[in-house]
Amino acid sequence: MKTYKKQDLTQEQKDFLYGTVLGDGSMCIPAKDCTNAIFTAGQGLKQKEYLMWKYMIMKEWTNSPPKIYHTKNSYGSGYTISFATGTHPVFTKIYKECYPNGKKIVSIECLNNLSDFSLAVWYMDDGCLANGITCKISTEGFTKEENQLIVDWFKSQGIETKVRKQKYSETKTFYYVVFLREGRNKFMKRIEKYIHPTMQYKLLKKRNCTQCGISFYENYHRTECSDVCKKKREDKYMDIYYQNNREKWRYKKSMT
Ligand SMILES: [Zn+2]
Repeated sequence: MKTYKKQDLTQEQKDFLYGTVLGDGSMCIPAKDCTNAIFTAGQGLKQKEYLMWKYMIMKEWTNSPPKIYHTKNSYGSGYTISFATGTHPVFTKIYKECYPNGKKIVSIECLNNLSDFSLAVWYMDDGCLANGITCKISTEGFTKEENQLIVDWFKSQGIETKVRKQKYSETKTFYYVVFLREGRNKFMKRIEKYIHPTMQYKLLKKRNCTQCGISFYENYHRTECSDVCKKKREDKYMDIYYQNNREKWRYKKSMT
């Protein structure tokens, strides 16, 4: 068994793990006779670069580089790429917090460990931007109560979100988290600098304010960054309107 030089995770590694465990990442006790947990990450081969980025963060805790597997499931077959860390008490600690009964859960303790970097990782794993504006996190694997806990936690961070319900069948209903407009913009601002190049498409498009030129997250059809700039534009149009009319009146007068 490999012995690790390091005895603790770096802050970046901790932040990464708390974020990805809410997303695609997973932890488990790999065998019955093991006392410690491992961390595993896997992606479809198309997301190889993103997986390699994850691997580079956790590399010093692994025994071998990512491997490619051929997998088959109900959706069809394909290739996935994944890696696992070795067993270690540092993983067991997080495993006990996030999998208290062997099943992944959302708790206020786990949420309180999330940094902006963790949020970015969670969003890259399970977030998406529908129609370029609706920002959601696929939290369908969690219960209604857990989704509500996520919404309440975001609220404590000044980010407005809500739980949305999706009826899958007569007996199955799923819940997930969507961002409200202002909440979405605040969230984007907090995570944008951590988003991997291959995940940039998950970020909201920015536009430049027609008045001051600064770039801001587009709010539907808004063309200015603030109410102050909006008023500036309206005032300019008013001036043009009056000027045009003045010309017209002058012209009319000259005709009479
Ligand atoms: Zn502006």
